[in-house]
Amino acid sequence: STVLDVRDLQKHYGISKGTVFKRKVGTVRAVDGITFDIVEGETLGLVGESGCGKSTTLMEILELAAPSHGSVAVLGKDVGKLAGKDRKSIRRDLQVVFQDPMAALDPRLPIGDIIAEPMVTHGFSKEHIGKRVPELLGLVGLRPEHADRYPAEFSGGQRQRIGIARALALEPKLIVLDEPVSALDVSIQAGVINLLDELKAKLGLSYLFVAHDLSVVRHIADRVAVMYLGKIVEIGDVRTVFEAP
Ligand code: ADP
Ligand code: ADP
Repeated sequence: STVLDVRDLQKHYGISKGTVFKRKVGTVRAVDGITFDIVEGETLGLVGESGCGKSTTLMEILELAAPSHGSVAVLGKDVGKLAGKDRKSIRRDLQVVFQDPMAALDPRLPIGDIIAEPMVTHGFSKEHIGKRVPELLGLVGLRPEHADRYPAEFSGGQRQRIGIARALALEPKLIVLDEPVSALDVSIQAGVINLLDELKAKLGLSYLFVAHDLSVVRHIADRVAVMYLGKIVEIGDVRTVFEAP
């Protein structure tokens, strides 16, 4: 079944010149009519050089920006048309792992609290959270007794694991990975990618894996979509895209 369905998504920005006498001089088609889907258990790599429109696409999928045109459906529900309870359920089903784990983790909180936060927000019981936090730490390869430590006490790779544990807290179906290893040393990138791959198989997740570098998604993506100037210029099986001349 389809987990994410993006149809003819567009985002246009007006460009203005001047400050006091401001006039519109043109339009940037940051996202120019892109269509793709992700099925259950699949990893789609969304790749392309800086400025091609990846962040804008993500912002629209995460509802942080309204599309100029088109639709985004998560688990068959059009996110633009949801209200109330349905909206909240979409926020459980779709989670994000960010590029910079440090920016995403509150330095004042022990990591147990950071991981627990989405469950607190969604009204889970203390008993549930108390069982779930050590379980989540174990899933990402950290020790339960680490729950009392602060983000600064961990390495970059460990921090990204904390971000992943937090994203898993509400048992999402789809995780958006926004350059999840780009800020990490090359030597530890493979460990995080392998963990993501293992978690996907174990938990039946689907991923939208965004990266500027095609090689990062080579071993984890099932399919790859290549963006250029706001459009998907190529989409297909990972081997086919890599073998393209
Ligand atoms: P990427 O994430 O692939 O680097 P972006 O989505 O950030 O690409 O940017 C796509 C295009 O849209 C770029 O040309 C960028 O300059 C432009 N853009 C992004 N945000 C804005 C904005 N708020 N106003 C005007 N142009 C923007
Ligand atoms: P609210 O407090 O209104 O429920 P949220 O804080 O749950 O809002 O999310 C606001 C928006 O930010 C949502 O569209 C959500 O998809 C997005 N978002 C940003 N970061 C995350 C994250 N780590 N996990 C899930 N959604 C996130």
